Amino acid sequence: MNIKSPKPPLEPFRIKSVERIKPVSRRERENVLKESGFNVFNIPAEKVLIDLLTDSGTSAMSDHQWAGLMVGDESYAGARSFYHLEAAVKNIFCFKHVIPAHQGRAAERILFGAMVKKGDYVPSNNHFDTTRANVEARGAAAVDLVIDEAYNPDSDYPFKGDMDTSRLKKFIEKKGTGKIPLAMLTITNNSGGGQPVSLRNIREVSQICKQHRIPLFFDACRFAENAYFIKKREKGYEGKSILDIAQEIFSYGQGATMSAKKDALVNIGGFVTLDDDKLAEKVKNLLILGEGFPTYGGLAGRDLEAIARGLEEVLEEDYLDYRVSQVAYLGQLLDQAGVPVLKPFGGHAIYLLADRFLPHIPRHQYPGWALTVALYRQAGIRTSEIGAIMFAKKDAKTGREIFPKLELVRLAIPRRVYTSAQIEYVAEAIIRLYENRDEVRGMRIVRESPQLRHFTIRMEEI
Ligand SMILES: *Cc1c(COP(=O)(O)O)cnc(C)c1O
Repeated sequence: MNIKSPKPPLEPFRIKSVERIKPVSRRERENVLKESGFNVFNIPAEKVLIDLLTDSGTSAMSDHQWAGLMVGDESYAGARSFYHLEAAVKNIFCFKHVIPAHQGRAAERILFGAMVKKGDYVPSNNHFDTTRANVEARGAAAVDLVIDEAYNPDSDYPFKGDMDTSRLKKFIEKKGTGKIPLAMLTITNNSGGGQPVSLRNIREVSQICKQHRIPLFFDACRFAENAYFIKKREKGYEGKSILDIAQEIFSYGQGATMSAKKDALVNIGGFVTLDDDKLAEKVKNLLILGEGFPTYGGLAGRDLEAIARGLEEVLEEDYLDYRVSQVAYLGQLLDQAGVPVLKPFGGHAIYLLADRFLPHIPRHQYPGWALTVALYRQAGIRTSEIGAIMFAKKDAKTGREIFPKLELVRLAIPRRVYTSAQIEYVAEAIIRLYENRDEVRGMRIVRESPQLRHFTIRMEEI
C-alpha cells in the first residue's frame, strides 16, 4: 500500500478580521428543514455552519481591497476608480472598451440586447443559466456544443470544458452564418463542472469563427482559474505567467462578459469589454437605459475600485496555487474514502455523483436533492443540487420528466473564506454520511413553480 495522504495547501495570507459562525443544534436544523420545505435556498444563512451554496459574490476581500473602498471616487462621471478599473481590465483582456455593469447577467443582457435578435442561434461550450436565459429572452436559441467527455464523470480528460469543433463546423454550415451573431466560450465551464478550456481549443474555435466572420466572446467569470489549469496541464505553458496566458486567451476573441463576483474577488459587480466601436456604442446606450452612466454602470465608485484591485490580486500565482489546491484537497479526501466524485476536480467546486452516492434512491425521487437535505441535517453544510430539480425537462406530450445526464451535488468553495480545518470537517461529514447512506430517503415534490423551480420548490421526504 502506498497511499499518499493529501496535504492541505499553505494559505498565502493571514487572517486580519474574522466573522463569527454559530453552531446550530441538530434539533434546530430539523426544524429549519421543515420550515424551509426541505429546500436549502429557503434556509437563513445564519442557520448554516459551512456555506458551500455558491462561490459567487462570497469571496473574502483583502485588506488592500477594503482600503480601496475608502478611496473609491464617487463622482457621477469620470471617477478615478473607473479609470483604475479600465486599466486593470485592459491589462488582462486587451480590448478597447470597458463597460461596467452591476453583475454578470446585466453585462450579458446589454451585450445580447445589442447583438442578438429573434430566430438567432448562439453556440457555446455550455451556456451558464443566466447566459442561456438572456439569449432566450431575445427570442434566440442557446446551443451547447461541449465535447462528449464532459458528460463522462469517469473520464480524466484534462480539458473537459473544450468545445466540440467538428460539431461547431457542422452547426454553422447547417444554420448559416447570418443566424449566428456571436459564439461564446465559458471559461471555466461552470455548468460542466468548473472544467477548463484549453488554449488549443480556444485557437481552433477562434479560427472557425474567423473563417465565418462570427465574433467570439468569452464568458470570463473564472478566467484566472482557467489560465492556471492551462499553465499546469497544457504543453508549452509551464513557464508562462498567468497574465501572459490570460492575454493570449483573449487575443483570440472580440470581447468578453464577466461577473466580478467570481475571479475579481469581490461581492458585487461585472463588466463587458470589447473592441468594436459601433457595438460598444449600442451596448453603452442599453447600459444608460438600465444600469447607469458608462463610467459607473450601476456600481458605486468604491465597488469599481475593489474590482480593479481584485483583478490584480487574482493573477498572483501563489493565490491560484492555494485556491485550486484547496478545492482539490477536498476532492482527494473524498475520493480516497471511496465517495463518488466528478473527476478531474473543478476549479471552484467539487461535485458529488449523487445517483452513485445514493443508489437506492431512483432518479424520480431526486437523489441529488435528498443529498443536499441530508448534508444540512447531518452537519449544517449547505450545498446545491445540480440535477433533476434544476435541469429536468418535461415531455410536452406526457408531462413526464426527462432527467439530465448527470445528477450532481455541488460543493462550491468561496474564495479565501474557509480554512483547511473547515474543509476537513466537510470531508469527514460527507464520508460519515456515505457510510450511513442507506438511511437517506428519497424526496417528493409538494409545490413547484414553472421556471427555475429549484429556488422556490417545496419538497417532503418519502
Ligand atoms: C455567475 C455566472 C454568470 C452570471 O453572473 P452574475 O454575477 O451571477 O449575474 C455568468 N456566467 C457564468 C459562467 C457564471 O458563473
